[in-house]
Amino acid sequence: MQVHCELCGKNEEYAFSRWRCDCGGAWVLYPSQPLSADVINREIKSIWRYDAFFPQEIKKIQGSLGAGFTPLLHSTIHNRDVQLKLDYLMPTGSFKDRGVELMMNTLAAGDVKQVVEDSSGNAGASVAAYAARLGMKATIFTPAHASPVKLSQIATYGADIRTIPGARSNANQAALEAVNAGAIYASHAYSPVYLLGQQTAAWEVWEQNNYQIPDWVIVPVGQGGNLLGYYEGFQALQKAGLGEKIPRLIAVQPERLAPVCDAFEQRWKEWPGLSAPEKGSIAEGLAITNPVRWEHVVHAIKESDGICVKVAEEEILPAQRLLAELGFFVEPTSAVVIAVFGKILKIIERNESVIISLTGNGLKSSPITLQ
Ligand SMILES: [Zn+2]
Repeated sequence: MQVHCELCGKNEEYAFSRWRCDCGGAWVLYPSQPLSADVINREIKSIWRYDAFFPQEIKKIQGSLGAGFTPLLHSTIHNRDVQLKLDYLMPTGSFKDRGVELMMNTLAAGDVKQVVEDSSGNAGASVAAYAARLGMKATIFTPAHASPVKLSQIATYGADIRTIPGARSNANQAALEAVNAGAIYASHAYSPVYLLGQQTAAWEVWEQNNYQIPDWVIVPVGQGGNLLGYYEGFQALQKAGLGEKIPRLIAVQPERLAPVCDAFEQRWKEWPGLSAPEKGSIAEGLAITNPVRWEHVVHAIKESDGICVKVAEEEILPAQRLLAELGFFVEPTSAVVIAVFGKILKIIERNESVIISLTGNGLKSSPITLQ
């Protein structure tokens, strides 16, 4: 399958060992044919209903856990009608299963038996689950301060778990050392197949929203895979003539670590060396100092006429509670979108449609965060 470098534009045949381009850019994989409602396999209630748009090499399912096709439900928040995309209702409790199910199936189809990944928790749990499902071995590097519930989840799937002291970037460094020594990198940050899997969120929203493109989509941003999945997925719909626009994207980051918002607002040309803040965020999944695809994410926000909004720490738990009181239990990382929604009502017209992505199950957060 042909992949495209998002930085230098180079195209090449994808090889698992070439996890990024020589220029350092991440690869992008486009749908294998223009989107069309006619070839969606409606009997399948998972990401595989879109297998006509996956490259030939990954059309055959090696082992599914049923990722995708999550509910899109109406609710009223701050006296506004919104639609909640319940991606926390995935096999491992986070939105990452969309991309990871496709990525791990591709690796299994290529006869890969062993992978490494680094993660603050959710991607690691997802890779560990799919490794178990597909009979592969996974080594997951996580920060030592990751949620104990997520660490326990990863360990229970049978993955080899390595907790690395210090910042999230230390876990990334440790994984890269293993990759440089020859391990296959099942990276949610870099994998083009993962990103293609994330596009299914946009395609589902389009189907569930009566084939209409919503006006706004609100997502938390760490590495930015969820936001890019929506952006690329809606772009693919627009290119196929199935939507007249792409939704305006609202990216949300914690105030303590909001590099994408800063890059967007200050028009960064280069990535500065950032260190982790002294105090981490309760939105632990968003504490990323070096998002791999940051230029692509900033471009997506800009091209969609979107915005990036920062959330203060003290706004996050009340937002989690507000949502729980409506019956939706998500982790703090996911609740940031609700904290933001209350602050941006002025820019959203009452008749505009709003999709809010709920990304991680509340059962994944440490009990201490719930007090
Ligand atoms: Zn390149």
